[in-house]
Amino acid sequence: MSKGQVMENILILLHVEEAGNSLSRSAFEVVAAAVELSKNLNASLTIGIIGDGASEAAESVSGTGAHILTVNGSEFSLPRYASDAAAAEALCKKAEPTLVLAPATSRFNRVLPGVAHRLQGCVDTHITAIDSTQGLSVTRWFYKQRIEGQLQRSARPWFVLLEAGIRPEWRGAPAPTNVQAVEVIVPSSRTRVVGVRAPRLDEQTIRPDAKLLFVAGAGWTKKQADGQVHAKDAQRLIRDILRLSGASLGSSKSLVDQSTDQQSVLSFMSHLNQVGQTGSTPRHPKGLSTCCHGEEPHVVGWRFINERRAINLDPNCGWARGKADVLYVADAFQVVEKLLAILAEKTMATAVR
Ligand SMILES: Cc1cc2nc3c(=O)[nH]c(=O)nc-3n(C[C@H](O)[C@H](O)[C@H](O)COP(=O)(O)OP(=O)(O)OC[C@H]3O[C@@H](n4cnc5c(N)ncnc54)[C@H](O)[C@@H]3O)c2cc1C
Repeated sequence: MSKGQVMENILILLHVEEAGNSLSRSAFEVVAAAVELSKNLNASLTIGIIGDGASEAAESVSGTGAHILTVNGSEFSLPRYASDAAAAEALCKKAEPTLVLAPATSRFNRVLPGVAHRLQGCVDTHITAIDSTQGLSVTRWFYKQRIEGQLQRSARPWFVLLEAGIRPEWRGAPAPTNVQAVEVIVPSSRTRVVGVRAPRLDEQTIRPDAKLLFVAGAGWTKKQADGQVHAKDAQRLIRDILRLSGASLGSSKSLVDQSTDQQSVLSFMSHLNQVGQTGSTPRHPKGLSTCCHGEEPHVVGWRFINERRAINLDPNCGWARGKADVLYVADAFQVVEKLLAILAEKTMATAVR
């Protein structure tokens, strides 16, 4: 270790998925990053897990050899600032970390900056990489993914929230380990969770963990070869493909803007689905664009999609100009219908087996 470099003590903070007692994919990605970093820095490693079922979840990361701390109990099963902050603070006080790594879930994004402040530390969110070759530095994007910045900090504890989809997950067989429960007194709260009202799972079209991003463009609601608009067919095809493939739904700006223009729209589409310069920049291994022209303001949102395919009637569309790995010059209505038949057959075959 070079002179002046801090001897790091790493704490991985995780929370159990609200539906069950398991950890999410992004949690295992953070574990992989932390295990690698602890080896490179020769740092000690502790894992702190919050939530009902934290002890069961501990088994899935026991193979890391890290010391595991848990905050258990039904009071910690649902996201709530007061209880989450108390649990994270207690775990930090127990582990006394210099560096806290956590997945950038909405639950942790909301609560960990406050915890960092309580512990007089510092926090960085939306981190996409950690590097330890020349001191410790983290990377994040600024100004809508246009500028990539690298940051170093001397303040400790340093809370680092890692974006999902930036590296492979940690995998390892369970091993005997030391799991210690940390008692936390739940702070009195004026809010009480009386139930959860959420859209049905098949109505939740934004699925960050999905392997495929399925993008629908305005072409779905435009007049087709027969001179007619087939928005109802489009709605059925897109909904079915999402259901059978488990893909996440993205949209072009033109399509989501149509709802404000009183035109034919897909009922399950909102501005939250918009991908691009003024939309989101999701991370998925694969992407399939349909009926979308592939103009630059849209395609900048595909920065983190590794394998890109597009279906468009126009052989001169934007995707044809080096923006997609494969362009199918075809009618998306027909292609998706065929795709659905193949997926349905596969689903049947799996069900019979
Ligand atoms: C400042 C600024 C910011 C912007 N930000 C964004 C952004 O964040 N995200 C975004 O998406 N856009 C953004 N835009 C708009 C962007 O430039 C495009 O206008 C928009 O992406 C076009 O959407 P589209 O490709 O769905 O629609 P269109 O351009 O109308 O394209 C429809 C496509 O569907 C195809 N098609 C029609 N029928 C079929 C069929 N049956 N089978 C196959 N293909 C078919 C057509 O050939 C056509 O290529 C921005 C623009 C500006 C100026």
